[in-house]
Amino acid sequence: MQDVVEKVYEQVVARNRGEVEFHQAVHEVLESLDPVIAKHPHYAEGALLERIVEPERQIMFRVPWVDDAGQVHVNRGFRVEFNSALGPYKGGLRFHPSVNAGIIKFLGFEQIFKNALTAQGIGGGKGGSDFDPHGRSDAEVMRFCQSFMTELARHIGPSTDVPAGDIGVGGREIGYMFGQYKRLRNSYDAGVLTGKGLAWGGSLVRTEATGYGAVLFAQSMLSTKGESLEGKKVIVSGAGNVAIYAIEKAQQLGATPITFSDSSGYVVDEAGVDLELLKQVKEVERGRVADYVERRPGARLVTGGSVWDVPGDVALPCATQNELDGDAAATLLRGGCGVVSEGANMPSTPEAVEAFQKAGILFGPGKAANAGGVATSALEMEQNAGRTRWDFATAEAKLTGIMADIHDSCVAAAEEYGRPGDYVLGANAAGFTRVADVMIAHGIV
Ligand code: NDP
Repeated sequence: MQDVVEKVYEQVVARNRGEVEFHQAVHEVLESLDPVIAKHPHYAEGALLERIVEPERQIMFRVPWVDDAGQVHVNRGFRVEFNSALGPYKGGLRFHPSVNAGIIKFLGFEQIFKNALTAQGIGGGKGGSDFDPHGRSDAEVMRFCQSFMTELARHIGPSTDVPAGDIGVGGREIGYMFGQYKRLRNSYDAGVLTGKGLAWGGSLVRTEATGYGAVLFAQSMLSTKGESLEGKKVIVSGAGNVAIYAIEKAQQLGATPITFSDSSGYVVDEAGVDLELLKQVKEVERGRVADYVERRPGARLVTGGSVWDVPGDVALPCATQNELDGDAAATLLRGGCGVVSEGANMPSTPEAVEAFQKAGILFGPGKAANAGGVATSALEMEQNAGRTRWDFATAEAKLTGIMADIHDSCVAAAEEYGRPGDYVLGANAAGFTRVADVMIAHGIV
């Protein structure tokens, strides 16, 4: 790293003690900026880098709620409004026991550049809580969401900050939060949240968008080598929203996904994942991956090791951050993997990314590859503002176009800065310069 960039990184580490995921995300972006700053030194002037790594606002709040047995619980809520240069803060809410300020900050920081890549006029933010929805009744989830929104409502709005879902937050949770927001404000601001139900302002394709987008990105990367996903064996991690629709799109494009996972283990189904059964188990019954194996002859559940031990041509990490480490990367490469497209945010550790890049395989980083979700959220906002609703084909065509543009922007930026085929540099450089140019235009704010 150049001295000027290194100094900014050291300051981030000193000021945000213990927030290791945030340090990791900042390091990855700043490291990529060396060739950008070398070519355009003005990006390091006016404390631009120092400003871009500092959230505009961080909100942390108490979320008290009562369980079905009458016991009172206290969780912690977060919203980090990181950067509004390009538009209202936009980014999901995560409900998972591992959530803390550092996790939300890493996600918010990534979101700035991801959202810039979509070219849709959205700033970067993220939020969530250390609440664990697993095993909670609908009524408990509802009371938690209402308490969470009671505080969050005063900070968000269709032109201010527009949250969506993430791990542990799907249509059910967005519904409870929207209901509470509407009640508090006495206003039907459909554009205040995305990922809504279709009957109350949601967009077709939003549910599918992140997984579909990650697969479309893999297909675009393969097309630069004259290849496609047709006939390829795909290793998928996760069994949530992103994983399920990554599997669906991969199947549509002629590939064969053979794995998925959750925190209880992973499933190998050599015959190809039975998507209807997986949706039934995960979306309808909210079950565990073992429930799939019980009903699917030939599928096996593995509770030790990692899903990355299974050989395949393409890997789609769709669960969580740092789920794919250097050893897993080496195993994947030995198994013949030639493409990694990140459906999750920062699922590959720095060692894994280095291994993929050294091996010269196609590696699509999350901030580009999983941008389809937020891009379709912006399409939802557009439909809400116009009080209109597009059909599935229209929304999907827009998503496909946006993913192709993101891919091409990454390719062009990687070439401009002298490292053709480096999608990490391409995504960071293209996203950063879009945000930085507007921050400069807005003055010191
Ligand atoms: P879901 O909650 O729908 O699914 C998450 C899946 O990953 C579950 O199967 C979950 O298993 C598994 N998982 C989560 N944490 C862990 C863990 N620590 N160890 C093992 N397994 C884990 O979330 P999404 O599918 O929405 O999100 C997945 C990833 O994609 C996240 O990184 C998210 O930030 C990213 N993303 C999501 C977008 C969206 O539109 N939803 C947009 C862009 C990125 P279990 O149920 O057992 O915990």
